Amino acid sequence: MKYTSAIFSLILASASAFAPFSSTNTAGGVGSSGNTALSMSGVTRNPNFAKLVGGYLFPEIGRRRNAYIAENPDMASRIISLGIGDTTQPIPEHILGGLVASAAKLGTKEGYTGYGAEQGMGPLRAKIAEKLYGGIIKDSEVFVSDGAKCDIMRIQQVFGPGVTTAVQDPSYPVYVDTSVMMGQTGNINPVTKQYDNIVYMPCTAENDFFPDIENIPRADIVYFCSPNNPTGAAATKEQLERLVKVCKERGSILVFDAAYAPFIRSEGVPKSIFEIEGAREVAIECNSFSKYAGFTGVRLGWVIVPDELTFADGSKVRDDFNRVMTTAFNGASNIVQGGGLACLDDEGLAEIDVLINYYMENAKLLKEAMTSIGYKVYGGTDAPYVFVKLPDGKGSWDAFTEILEKAQVVTIPGAGFGPGGDGYLRLSAFAPRETVIEACDRLKKALALTHA
Ligand code: PLP
Repeated sequence: MKYTSAIFSLILASASAFAPFSSTNTAGGVGSSGNTALSMSGVTRNPNFAKLVGGYLFPEIGRRRNAYIAENPDMASRIISLGIGDTTQPIPEHILGGLVASAAKLGTKEGYTGYGAEQGMGPLRAKIAEKLYGGIIKDSEVFVSDGAKCDIMRIQQVFGPGVTTAVQDPSYPVYVDTSVMMGQTGNINPVTKQYDNIVYMPCTAENDFFPDIENIPRADIVYFCSPNNPTGAAATKEQLERLVKVCKERGSILVFDAAYAPFIRSEGVPKSIFEIEGAREVAIECNSFSKYAGFTGVRLGWVIVPDELTFADGSKVRDDFNRVMTTAFNGASNIVQGGGLACLDDEGLAEIDVLINYYMENAKLLKEAMTSIGYKVYGGTDAPYVFVKLPDGKGSWDAFTEILEKAQVVTIPGAGFGPGGDGYLRLSAFAPRETVIEACDRLKKALALTHA
């Protein structure tokens, strides 16, 4: 009791220590009497943020969905999401056991650990190198993290504002948006919807979703995602060999995003860029447990930076990435890394396979449904995304709205991934089976009317 009241008086004391701030904050900021004029700081806004058009794609989808529900409250319970690529199936038993056991250890004197190495636990780095890269990567080249999205921004910190960037068009929006935030780009061109100083590499059905890489202008940094979000295309070995060759000849650094690698089912399609000869001198690879094991909320990823990869002055990219990690990251959660270790046990890998088969069966159902009503459909074979070609002249945001209104199914417009994605819709296979079946039914009814 005495202890509680001591804490309480401490809180009161600190609250009053802050009181002068709130009572003198009379210009009308948050927490003042609530009246009108907002105060402004004297700090200039980072001009790069003003270049960004709209918000990040997925919150924008959520905003539009909520606006639809606000106008049609009786439809709220009918909404099915084939939108943001978030996993929906529970974490399997063995993997969950790894998470629970490492959490429980923290409650014991012997098992407690605090800050860990910024690069990740030694055993996890070793297991990633061994189990996922079959020894072609050294433990010291593995940097464990809290996920691939955050890693992409941290990689950008290494490059700084002075580089030029190339991206697949369409592509996962994080490559472009972080390049803009870092100050690597000019403004967006309102007609082409492309940022100045970014090289857009068209990847559409016309070129089998692989860019004419030899004839595209050079960029310092080339982002490439395979299997691809949103198109679902997985580059072949021959295509990746061309990509590595061009990057090497031009002195570019390839940032290879392999977040969907375990979904590859086709024989001979590489699951890592390091399966390609020469890649160690040109590539960084980022990857994640998010889609492998249902870790989108748990958060665990990794980056591979090979020793051979250098800047023009001969210094190692690895050393600078290590500097970013040690300065701006304090290591992935120790609980979560225990889960990562369990993922890579034989039992964990088998559970991941079951999960992936489940989502890939969903992708097959979505593909079949759209094909049966006359649409041309891509992806869905080596990736959990089905990319649907819309009838000529149909914009992808219009199609998104129409499907939401007619079928209460949330999709993602291809244009959200870059101008090259307009005319396509992305369907995510990460939904529960029963809702995928229901969505297929509704899409068949709603879209058959619009696609005569
Ligand atoms: N890379 C790609 C291509 C993705 O589609 C996503 C998530 O959707 C990520 C990275 C982010 O993964 P993480 O959950 O590890 O941040």
